[in-house]
Amino acid sequence: MEDLASQLKQVKTVAIAGHVKPDGDCVGSCLATYNYIATWFPEIEVDLYLEPIPNIFKFLKNTDKICHGCESDKQYDLCIVQDCGDTGRLGKAVKYFDTARRTVCIDHHISNLSFADENYIFPEVSSTSELVFGLLEEEKITKEIAECIYVGIVHDTGVFQYSSTSSKTMGVAGILMDKGIDFSRIVDETYFAKTFGQNKILGQALLNSELYLDGQMIATVITRAEMDRYQVMPRHLEGIVSQMRNTKGVEAAVFLYENEEGSWKLSLRSNGKVNVAEIAVRHGGGGHVRAAGATMEGEAQEVIQAVLEEIQEQLSAWGIC
Ligand code: 5GP
Ligand code: MN
Repeated sequence: MEDLASQLKQVKTVAIAGHVKPDGDCVGSCLATYNYIATWFPEIEVDLYLEPIPNIFKFLKNTDKICHGCESDKQYDLCIVQDCGDTGRLGKAVKYFDTARRTVCIDHHISNLSFADENYIFPEVSSTSELVFGLLEEEKITKEIAECIYVGIVHDTGVFQYSSTSSKTMGVAGILMDKGIDFSRIVDETYFAKTFGQNKILGQALLNSELYLDGQMIATVITRAEMDRYQVMPRHLEGIVSQMRNTKGVEAAVFLYENEEGSWKLSLRSNGKVNVAEIAVRHGGGGHVRAAGATMEGEAQEVIQAVLEEIQEQLSAWGIC
């Protein structure tokens, strides 16, 4: 696949979808594609399907056009799925993928098994948003499209910090800055700003945390009751596991929060030695080598123990556990 425009030839209807519980890269990359098609291909009917998005992203153009329900049974000429490693992560929007005449996947998850007709998958690239940038003509990237891509890159690189950040990523960010975006405000207001409740639950998560494996693993649990106490939703818990990973001496961070049905959402982060994607995939999830997740059943301590054993196994291969 050379560019997005070539995929749109003879296409009259397009559905775009991303993963459940959309994060910055998912929202940014999907909206960038949506806004590109809506701006430059007005003859094409385009719909974007995403679960409700965090309020911090609502300044991006056309967030009010996002379809949150999947009531219609429309069949599309083309379905583009982004930032999504498998069809199970599409949630209800999977029906548009299943019924579309042609499908395209743009993604950077190492666990992605190339499930679409056309796959544009580069696990070493920082973000799906950086991939979308490469598929658009530079002169057609408006300031509004640039804002979407910048949000995605900032969120998936931890503000240009993670090892997936390349000199190319920085070059792309520079081009986006030249489009006139308010880059420091985007970083402040979408990445660093936290509500009082979010800061409190971060504190609670850190207070609940324990070290394992001689300080090489850190784990914590947040229950539904704690989320209720601080009046936060699961989507407000982003950033907690990254803060845990910053603990000196830690190789892997394990964060569990309770889903509505009582199962556990598992978030894993590594400082390099542990491949957490491998662990997540073994439990039906996926992600990247240094950031991955899954959903697991059972008691929280059983889940931690199961993950601990796999982390220990990997660390022992390094001769350090
Ligand atoms: P987080 O820990 O921030 O929820 O997710 C980290 C990374 O793992 C993200 O790239 C995310 O897409 C992926 N991920 C998280 N949970 C799951 C899951 O349940 N299934 C799959 N396939 N990927 C997941
Ligand atoms: Mn991503």
